[in-house]
Amino acid sequence: MTKRINPFENAEKQFDAAAKILNLNPNQIAMVKTPRRITEANLPVRMDDGSIKIFKAFRVQHSIARGPAKGGIRFHQDVSLDEVKALSFWMTFKCAVVGIPMGGGKGGVVVDPRKLSTSELERLARRYFADLFDLFGPDKDVPAPDVNTNPQIMAWMLDTYCMHKRAYEPAVITGKPLEIGGSEGRGIATAQGMVFCVKRWAKHHNESLEGKSVAIQGFGNAGSNAALLLKKEGCKIVAISDVSGAFINEKEGIDPEHAVKYVSENGSLAGYESTKMANKMDDPMKLLELDVDILIPAALENQITEDNVNNIKARVIAECANGPCTFEADKVLDEKGIFIIPDILCNAGGVTVSYLEWVQNRMGYYWTEERVFEDLKRIMDSAFDKVIETSKKHNVNMRIAAFIVAIERVTKAAELRGLYA
Ligand code: GLU
Repeated sequence: MTKRINPFENAEKQFDAAAKILNLNPNQIAMVKTPRRITEANLPVRMDDGSIKIFKAFRVQHSIARGPAKGGIRFHQDVSLDEVKALSFWMTFKCAVVGIPMGGGKGGVVVDPRKLSTSELERLARRYFADLFDLFGPDKDVPAPDVNTNPQIMAWMLDTYCMHKRAYEPAVITGKPLEIGGSEGRGIATAQGMVFCVKRWAKHHNESLEGKSVAIQGFGNAGSNAALLLKKEGCKIVAISDVSGAFINEKEGIDPEHAVKYVSENGSLAGYESTKMANKMDDPMKLLELDVDILIPAALENQITEDNVNNIKARVIAECANGPCTFEADKVLDEKGIFIIPDILCNAGGVTVSYLEWVQNRMGYYWTEERVFEDLKRIMDSAFDKVIETSKKHNVNMRIAAFIVAIERVTKAAELRGLYA
């Protein structure tokens, strides 16, 4: 029986392991670890049938030490305050590890958006932003998409903000459609950042990505683009999955373009086996246990735990999701010699291009995708090198190393500002 893992407790354990190596004192730990501001709201929204439904919503601003709070808004039926706290906590250290001048925040609404009509979804998105309006601003807190939210939802939220402000301020939210101030490259940025990391891993190990086998859990923005980009790098995508199940074709590999087209026509991967392009796996969790070179968890937290970690066979785990491995599982992965590219580094491409979007919004001048990815590559490569160097220096895994780099930066910023005064 799987025990329920509290994601915030898991995040705290990761922090504590790094803080110990850094010799942080209890004051520093309390200052850097504790979420700065937590907001909870019950949002009334009119449904299409005239009834009113109440949705529980959160925004946690974990840290504002290095800049405005930054992080997405998640719409999911399992959202909880502890999850949003953990996600905002990871955002703080994610922004710090790649060195972008932002803090950490995260929002969430307890809702299964698949059960809402488009107009109900719009009313919920607008109500969220109107209710929590005072929290947000280009220099205060800058949200973005996360699980089940997308550029259209960002557009509604931006419009709600601008209506209240009586001014157009696109830098209040990122991940917007291109037509209203979004950035080139933001749509695939999370996956592109992961690819830069995986290529860097290969370079450090004198290998190439050509012919490497890949399994991907999750086929949303991060997972589907990860499949498309890694295929272009010469990898073989042997398995993919989403909420409807996992699909495998070890022999020929799965054609991600075909799968993406299938999802856009059918709403999910449900029934994908009928195309004869892949077989459905009996147990979708077994995707994680495939004997592949690269395993990409790109769905939710707590997927690799004490329950299944002994069966993990991949050589590298590239975490596109936030928090997919528990602290206890990490220890076993270390013993097995599996290389982890941790979430706060691996999926930081999304927030990095969000930052570049925010910069472009504030200049009112827009870059080409080439320019955006040139910056993204430079930022990701240098963060990867810094983390691997730290991991060698302290003889710790990449996750603890990433936290060491990030915690040092956040602590330094908080102390310079005297945030505790
Ligand atoms: N939701 C994404 C993440 O977890 C992106 C956040 C952002 O762009 O602010 O990193």
